[in-house]
Formats: sequence, structure tokens, C-alpha cells
Amino acid sequence: MIQFDNSYLRELPGTYLRQPPAVAPAPEVVVFNASLAAELGLGALPEAAAWFSGAEVPPGAEPAALAYAGHQFGGFSPQLGDGRAHLLGEFLGPDGRRWDLQLKGSGRTAFSRGGDGKAAVGPMLREYLISESMAALGIPTTRSLAVVATGETVWRDAGGLPGAVLARVAASHVRVGTFQFFAARGEEDKLRALTDYTLARHYPGVSGALGLFDAVVARQARLIAQWMGVGFVHGVMNTDNMALSGETIDYGPCAFMEAYAPGTVFSSIDRQGRYAYANQPLILAWNLARLAETLLPYFDADEARAVEIANDRLDGIAAVYQAEWLAVMAAKLGLPHVEDAFVQELLHAIQGVDWTLAFRRLGQDGYLALFDDTGPISAWLAKWQALQPDLAAMARVNPAVIPRNHLVEAALEAATVGDLAPFTALLAAVQDPFGPEAGREGFCLPAPVGFGTYVTFCGT
Ligand code: AMP
Ligand code: MG
Repeated sequence: MIQFDNSYLRELPGTYLRQPPAVAPAPEVVVFNASLAAELGLGALPEAAAWFSGAEVPPGAEPAALAYAGHQFGGFSPQLGDGRAHLLGEFLGPDGRRWDLQLKGSGRTAFSRGGDGKAAVGPMLREYLISESMAALGIPTTRSLAVVATGETVWRDAGGLPGAVLARVAASHVRVGTFQFFAARGEEDKLRALTDYTLARHYPGVSGALGLFDAVVARQARLIAQWMGVGFVHGVMNTDNMALSGETIDYGPCAFMEAYAPGTVFSSIDRQGRYAYANQPLILAWNLARLAETLLPYFDADEARAVEIANDRLDGIAAVYQAEWLAVMAAKLGLPHVEDAFVQELLHAIQGVDWTLAFRRLGQDGYLALFDDTGPISAWLAKWQALQPDLAAMARVNPAVIPRNHLVEAALEAATVGDLAPFTALLAAVQDPFGPEAGREGFCLPAPVGFGTYVTFCGT
């Protein structure tokens, strides 16, 4: 039993379309997040297969597809929206926090354009695995509650694949693109309502469009700094994939960087490297500028003054981000604070070295074995050691286990043909990221050289 309370539908009429999910022919639960369900007060959910496959709409749920727009790779699409997702509704967790429950891969909606509204089991398990890894790493993210196989074949370039629906929970699905949708249409009443709604839901105590903007800047800057800390490359930082809540959302072609290289890109469609690892902070500012544009009329009634305020805020984003990033790096280095130049010297020394191990093993015996050229790192290490870093604190923030690309691929490949054992083992490992390396070395090491360059594809 889920006690639904659907505030978005109630308070923001005209921002969504009621749409029923498609009915799956032969639903079967592939993976269920029992600990998350318990944490959220949802119980064992014996109805998961029926509820998350469209076979049954849970009592109190009001399935809807939300409208949004978005800049995709810099180009504006005035109408995207949930083309293969259905918001079932919202519920309150035991701590009073409000959660969206959404199905992804649940069939066509009025926003589907040419798409089939479906998803394959591989990409949905991918989102499940990586989002749960992010949660275990302490990084704000939507969570995955279940993946249900539909018993249907979905057709992709690779051929026929087993279909699946992901059930996920999120602090909300309000995106930068949601604001853009109504701004582009000149629907001021809806923009105002959306601003008030977002403030009440995510930033109680904050008021006004400018207050909202500043609060989102703070949370998103912190989020991207955390991504950078673990080497996460989102891959599609389009404005429709940036949540006002500050959660990581929409896991498509994302992956974790192994050898440190600022230009790291995994997504097959990101040919220009727009969303490369080191570009993410720049895209953060770019996307937030798009948000500011939608709020401009509410920053000040006087247009010139509003532009001045916005420009001032946008100029400040780099400094907000830099402070967050230095805080993340200081923690990774076991220090109360660090100077930029000191971190840059380290980054220079670890080029080409596995990002995760370069921090996890820092301060341990045999560290220099990670390096071909030990000169630059040795010079840096001497300075770092003199600062008396807190090694125990470092072990709590520098993971031993991230979802290694070769293991993710092998797990998804096996799951696609019905063998869940590698997925289950990998999931357990990423859910304990800060545990020891010893005894699970296979989960801690980078891909063997023969794995080659890793390329990911959009999770459609
Ligand atoms: P994403 O890649 O998740 O950022 O999605 C971008 C847009 O494409 C969103 O509006 C999605 O709803 C839509 N979309 C992605 N895959 C499909 C699909 N298979 N069918 C219909 N719409 C889709
Ligand atoms: Mg998306």
C-alpha cells in the first residue's frame, strides 16, 4: 500500500497530461530494492510486478507524463516531455520527505515524438546499478526501486532486446527544462506557480525567483563537484537532465573515468566532447544561465536591472563551484582545506593514472607502482605528507569500488540473456564503496588493456 498525495498534479494543472502506462504482456521482477523500499516505508511491495508494468495502477496513483523542454547539446527543443515515462504519483517517506514514484520505459505518451516509449532491460539495469552506486557514494541522486521485465521485445539498432520498466524515486522531476517549457510559451502564470511549487517542495524558507536561483546554484555546484570527485561523467548534461532538486537524474550514457584525462568522453553521440569530464563545471554554468533566462522577469520588474542581477549571479557561479570543488578535493586528500595550485600540481602528476586508485591508495605502501614517471608525484607527495593528512578520513571518502566499465558491460550482457549473477555481485560491491580492497580486488581494478576505449550509447 502506497499512500499517494499527488501535489504536482493538484497544484500545477496544465503542466502535464494524464496518460496510462502501457500494459506489459508478461511482467517479471528482475531486481527489487528491498532496503530502499523499507527505508521509504513502502514495505515488501508484493504488487511490484503488477504496479510497475502497467498491469495494475496502484490505488491513489494518477499516471501522468510531465511537460518539459530542453537544450540538447546546445540546441533548443521547445517540446520534449516524458516520452517514455509515467509519473505514478508522490508519497511521503517516514521522515516526511516527499518522493516522486516514476516509471521509465512504460510506453508511449503524447510526448513520445517518433519513439516507441519503451526501454530495454540492459539500460534500465544500468540506471539501477549506477544510481545505487552514486547513492552509496553519498552523491545526491534519484534512486532505483525496481526493474521489471515486460516480456516484450523492444527493437533497437542492435536488434531485438528484452524490454523492461524501471521504477525510480526522485525528490521531484522538476527540471531546468520544465521552466524552459513555460518560458518559451510565455505562460507566466505557470512559471510563477512552478517557481512557488519548487521553492515549497525543495527549498522551504527560501523565497522569490532569485532565492530559488541562488539555492539551485548552490546545490548544483555541490553536485557537480561531487561528480568530479569520483570521476563521474554524466554524458548528457542537457538542460532537461538537470533537476532543480540538485539530484543526479537520467542515467543514459554515463560512466566513471578510469585513467585520469580531463577530456574523457564515453557517449557515442558526444563527438565534440561538450559533456567531457572537465567540461562539466562549464556546462553547469551554461545550464544555469538557461534557468536564469526563464526567471529573468521575476528577478526585477525593471528589465535592465533584472539583466544586471542575472549577469552578476552568473559571474559568481564559477567561484561557488570552485569553493565546492576545493572542499571535495580537500576531503579526498585528508586535509581541512587545500589551495588550487596544490591540487593542480597533483592533477598534473596523476594524468593517465587510474583516478579512483590514485586517491584510494594515496598514503599507502606501494603507491608509486601506479606511476610510470614517479618524479612529479614524488615531489608532490613530500609536500602532502608534511601537511599530516588524515588517512582514516580519506578512506571514508575515496571509494575502493566504483562501477568499473568492463564489469558493468559484462553484467548487463549476462543479464540480457537471463544470467543475473554478475549483476547481483557487482551491485553488492558498488553498494559498499568504501570497504576494503582486500578480498574483492576484481571489483577495484581498472579494465584490462584489451577492453579498449569504452563507448556508451544513449539508454533508449
Ligand atoms: P533522455 O535521453 O532521457 O534525456 O531523453 C530525451 C527525450 O527523449 C525525453 O523527452 C525522453 O522522454 C525522450 N525519449 C527517449 N527515449 C525515448 C523512447 N524510446 N520513446 C519515446 N521517447 C523517448
Ligand atoms: Mg532525460
